[in-house]
Amino acid sequence: MALLDVDEVVGAGLCAGCGICESMAGSDSIEMALTKEGRIRPKTKKLVESVLMKRIMQVCPGATITGPKKDQAGPPNSLHPIWGPITSLHKGWAGDEKVRFHSAAGGVLTSLGMYLIRTRKVDAVLHIIASADNPPLSEAWISRTEQDVYDGAQSRYGPGASLTVVHRLLDEGATFAVIGKPCDVAAIRNLQSIDARAEAQIPYCLTIFCGGTLSLNTAHTMVENMGAAPDELSLFRYRGEGWPGTAHMETIDGRAFDLTYEQAWLDETVPWKYDLPFRCKVCPDAIGELADIAAPDGWVMKDGRPIYDEAPGVNLVIARTPKGAELADAAEADGALVRTPFTEAELSEMHDDHRARKSHWPVRMWALRIAGQPSLTVRRYRLISALRAAGILNSLGSFLGTLRRARKKLNREIGFGKSI
Ligand SMILES: Cc1cc2nc3c(=O)[nH]c(=O)nc-3n(C[C@H](O)[C@H](O)[C@H](O)COP(=O)(O)OP(=O)(O)OC[C@H]3O[C@@H](n4cnc5c(N)ncnc54)[C@H](O)[C@@H]3O)c2cc1C
Repeated sequence: MALLDVDEVVGAGLCAGCGICESMAGSDSIEMALTKEGRIRPKTKKLVESVLMKRIMQVCPGATITGPKKDQAGPPNSLHPIWGPITSLHKGWAGDEKVRFHSAAGGVLTSLGMYLIRTRKVDAVLHIIASADNPPLSEAWISRTEQDVYDGAQSRYGPGASLTVVHRLLDEGATFAVIGKPCDVAAIRNLQSIDARAEAQIPYCLTIFCGGTLSLNTAHTMVENMGAAPDELSLFRYRGEGWPGTAHMETIDGRAFDLTYEQAWLDETVPWKYDLPFRCKVCPDAIGELADIAAPDGWVMKDGRPIYDEAPGVNLVIARTPKGAELADAAEADGALVRTPFTEAELSEMHDDHRARKSHWPVRMWALRIAGQPSLTVRRYRLISALRAAGILNSLGSFLGTLRRARKKLNREIGFGKSI
C-alpha cells in the first residue's frame, strides 16, 4: 500500500516531523505547523504537482528509509548486525570545558560543528534551536559562526522541524553540515540519492541516538505540575548545563523550576509521559547508521546498567564512515575533541535499550501491512539479522502488539488532512 502524499504519511502515523517536505515544496505549498496533538506536521496549503510530490515521497523518512551499504564503514566486517557500520569507536567529549558543560552530554556534536565552521570545512551548520516564542518547541537554525553552533546546543526532545531550510542553503550554494536526529539524516541521504546538489553541498551528517520525540503535551504537563502555565514560559531546557543536567523551566515573571533527569524522564509516577509518536515506536534506525558520526550519551555504568548522577559530560563517538573517522581524528588532533578507547561489547551493554527497536522493525512493518495499513519502505537494514536478534517469542509479541494497535487504528494520527 503505497503512500501517495504527505497527508497520507501523517495519517498513517509515520511522519517524523523533519520538515524536508516544506523545504522541497516551499512554505507557500506545505508548511510545518502544530497539530491539536502538539506535534509538528506538514500542512498542505496549496496543491503540490504530482511530479514534485513523487520526489517528496522518495525523500520523506516517513515513507522510505534505506540503510547503509555493506562497505559504508570501510573495513570488512565493520557492519555490526545490530549496531550498524562502525569505522571507529571511542568515548569522547569537547576539548573546551565550557562547551562540554553547556551541551546535552559531552558536547561532541557542538564541538564538531564549531570545528567544521572554524576550519572552513563548511560554510554553515544546519541544526535546531529553542523557539523564542514557544520555548518547548524548536525550529531550524542555520549556524554560520562558532557562537551560533554553541547557541544551538543541547537536546530538544519536543517537536521541531530541522530540515525546513535545506533548499534555502542549497539555492544559496552554501556547503553545510547537518546535525539532526537519525530520521533527519535518513531524509538527507534520500535527498542526496536524487539531488546532485545535496550530495555536493552536504559533506557531513552528524547525529544522536534517539529515543524518540515528544509532543508539546509533555513539556506543558511538566510546567503545569510546577504551578505555572505554558504561556508564562520564557525558557524551557530539556537537559544540558551539566550532564545529564536538569529539565529547567523559567517564567517571564522570574520563577524557575528544575527536575532531575530521573524525575523528568524515568519516574513512572509523574503525570506527564514520554509520549512517542507511532513513527518513533517502529523506527528501524534510531541509532544513526546513515550519519558520518553518531554521538549518543556515554553513560556512567554501574552493575551493568547506566546511572544518571551528575558528572562531567561524556559521549560515544561512533564514526560510521571513513570520512567521519577522519573528521573525528582531525578534531582530536586540533584539541576540539578528547577521546578514549571503547569497545563494541561496552556499546551493547550501555545502549541495550535500543536493541528491541533495532530488531523488531520487520515484524512491526509486517503487522501494519496485514492490518491493511501503509508501512515504511525499509531497505538494507539487515532484516535476517534483526529477526535472529529478536528471537521467535519477542518477534511474535511485537507483531501481535503492533497488529492490535493497527487494527484499533491507534497508530493513526490526526494531522491537517487535505485543507486545500
Ligand atoms: C529526541 C532525542 C532523543 C534522544 N534519545 C537518546 C537515546 O535514546 N540515547 C542516547 O544515548 N542519546 C539520546 N539523545 C541524545 C543525547 O540527548 C545527546 O543529544 C547526544 O548524546 C549528543 O550529545 P552532545 O553533547 O554531543 O550534544 P550537543 O553538543 O548538545 O548537540 C546536540 C545537537 O543536536 C541538535 N539537536 C538537538 N535536538 C534535536 C532535535 N530534536 N532535532 C534535530 N536536532 C537536534 C542540536 O541543535 C545540537 O546541534 C536524544 C536526543 C534527542 C534530541
